[in-house]
Amino acid sequence: MDSVDFHIHTNHSQKCEFSVEDILRRAQKSNLEYISFTDHGTTEAYKDLESINTSDIYAGKIITGIEINCLYKDMCIDIVGYKYKMKYLEDLNKWLKEKISFEKTAHFQQEQLEYLIKALKKYNLILPENKKLMFNEKNVRISKDNEFAGFVFAEELLKYKENLWLFEGHEGILNSPGLFFKVFCCDINSPFYVDIKSYKPKLKEVIDIIHKCGGLIFVPHPTVYFKDDESLIERFLNDIVTEYEIDGIECYHPDVSLEQREFLLDFCNSKNLKISGGTDFHDDSRVLGLLDGYKITSDNMNWIYS
Ligand SMILES: [Zn+2]
Repeated sequence: MDSVDFHIHTNHSQKCEFSVEDILRRAQKSNLEYISFTDHGTTEAYKDLESINTSDIYAGKIITGIEINCLYKDMCIDIVGYKYKMKYLEDLNKWLKEKISFEKTAHFQQEQLEYLIKALKKYNLILPENKKLMFNEKNVRISKDNEFAGFVFAEELLKYKENLWLFEGHEGILNSPGLFFKVFCCDINSPFYVDIKSYKPKLKEVIDIIHKCGGLIFVPHPTVYFKDDESLIERFLNDIVTEYEIDGIECYHPDVSLEQREFLLDFCNSKNLKISGGTDFHDDSRVLGLLDGYKITSDNMNWIYS
């Protein structure tokens, strides 16, 4: 038992098929000393644990975790909360339900759909004939996998050849309607622009609820937002730890290069921040506790013991 993995998703996150029990078996096989389930916006994994005889499967320890996408300045960033106390789980769940539950997301998706259909008129495009279908509770494909309605909307548009001119120069959308969101909904000059920022909790709110529940706030994979521009990464980190109560930074992550890792570790040491790491496990492309064959260990993570 010597390695750790503090960034693991389960089937309560999109694009992950592994149950909590599957993960526990893998964690045992990999001899992990500590793990944390960090699903997107949900604590369901910890509810699952209540009906699993964990000690029969996994001999290591589990710390609580969650990953929440939130608004920082004009960016949507991920934040991870660790070690919130189970006695406050209901408070946290209540907050999640209010801020980012599936019901809430579904509601936003409906709003976006209505908005996008209005925007259609500006292009004189054909409205999906069976508009009702899109809004029908049963048929509308609003899911955890599609946070934004652009996908559903693009699929409807693509049904009419009269609409296809819209996608000239963006033919990729014909085969992959999901791109509609990136190309049109994220472009502020497009009538299909959707201001996703209004759908996200603010960083301050996330920090407040996690701290209120006795937890710690970490910035995961901080390098991924800046296309490896070191000066931007440094400025982002300096700003965020100065302006907000950040407890630590995820220094070990598959999207953080070796060089960046060294930088992040130095940064944490100089600012007295806690260090964490994990594989951001979603599927078989990653092995729990390992980054390119390198074992993530708890050597510089004393915070997990206190
Ligand atoms: Zn993650």
